[in-house]
Amino acid sequence: MTEMQIFPQLTIPETLAAGPGPGNTDARVLASFANAGLADHMQADVLRGMIECKHMLRSVWGTRNVHTFGVAGTGWSGLDCLFSAILPGDTVVAFVNGTFSGIDALTVRMKAATREDLAANSMDPKPANVTVVNVPHGQSVTADVIEAALAAHKPTWAVMAHWETGSGRINDLRAFSDACVKHGVMGLVDAVSSLGIADFSIDDYPGVAGWASCPQKGVLCLPLTYAPVSFSDRYIAHLRANGCPSYVHHPILEARHWGILDGKDAPAGTYHRTHSGYAVAAFHEALRINLQHGKAQKAADYAHHEAALRKAVIALGCDVTSNMTSLVVLNLPPALAGREKDLVAMCRSRGFGIWPTLSEPVQVRIGILNQLSVAAITDIVERFGAAMNEMGAGADLGAALAALRDHYATRAAA
Ligand SMILES: *Cc1c(COP(=O)(O)O)cnc(C)c1O
Repeated sequence: MTEMQIFPQLTIPETLAAGPGPGNTDARVLASFANAGLADHMQADVLRGMIECKHMLRSVWGTRNVHTFGVAGTGWSGLDCLFSAILPGDTVVAFVNGTFSGIDALTVRMKAATREDLAANSMDPKPANVTVVNVPHGQSVTADVIEAALAAHKPTWAVMAHWETGSGRINDLRAFSDACVKHGVMGLVDAVSSLGIADFSIDDYPGVAGWASCPQKGVLCLPLTYAPVSFSDRYIAHLRANGCPSYVHHPILEARHWGILDGKDAPAGTYHRTHSGYAVAAFHEALRINLQHGKAQKAADYAHHEAALRKAVIALGCDVTSNMTSLVVLNLPPALAGREKDLVAMCRSRGFGIWPTLSEPVQVRIGILNQLSVAAITDIVERFGAAMNEMGAGADLGAALAALRDHYATRAAA
């Protein structure tokens, strides 16, 4: 018999989450989570909250898509729902330029695989009907690459990440949508790290039939709540005609609890699965904060503070290869090359939560989710510069701080 062990109560310290996500969640969101009363998932205010969330989500996404709601869980939960209509044998083109679009492509290969494809390589199936277009790490997926692949393959589905968080690169959403329209393809977009940061509206991209995001990056609702998703009427009609082998992540069935029935808004939701009043309250508050900040203003604030951080790390001798505005992905100066993981580990052990890249080549990622102030960016630069110098970089922290002062003096924070 094994002895029963009860561990001491778990305490988790407050850290500076300065990575690609999750980001620092607003105190208002945490208060909403903690102050919600106990209520079941069919209680009137919980159902009302879900319907209000649905309407706010349509504003955040910029869409009139009726099928716009949240999928309980993280980004991959929303993406699983997004990719649910891909059936074995379906033709798909997937663009990959980093870790996350790589996992998107794996998900798609699993769903489009036949039973034989799965038996041949169950963890990493390679169905011939899925074409993966690889773009090197550190580069964006561009118009020419998208157009050539869709013209050549004319698939049913095409899949791309809007912002590839693994390499910090923005992909060409306009070209993707246009090529999907031109070739009659249904585009599916992983917008996990762009929603809530980039200023874009779904309805400006008619070639994209489905979208998925996550709670804990731009939306800033780490009490893991809901992954926002949105589907065009075309996607829903295709799904209704062809079906999909999922109950829980079935976009039409899951939408019911959010008050979406028979393609229309209903006065109240009907049971699909249990929802938590705590999660609904937190998500509701996070969406309110996003809308109060304003999409254009929020995007401008991220661009402003990312530009400051970029100038400072360049002054420290780093080489920035990303173009997202929530994150810088950089190569360390030659003196520290090859020691990226050691530097990241040292910073993390001190509660400064930066990240390495998760796939080759090894680079450092520093994120600014909800760190939109001069003080917060200065703190990040001071911690990073000090850590570099402790490892012997001999970087000029004074020059980095001067670069920050200069940036903020000449372009005052909005
Ligand atoms: C973070 C991320 C994911 C995965 O999201 P989880 O919340 O970890 O499930 C998928 N795609 C992209 C582009 C991401 O940035």
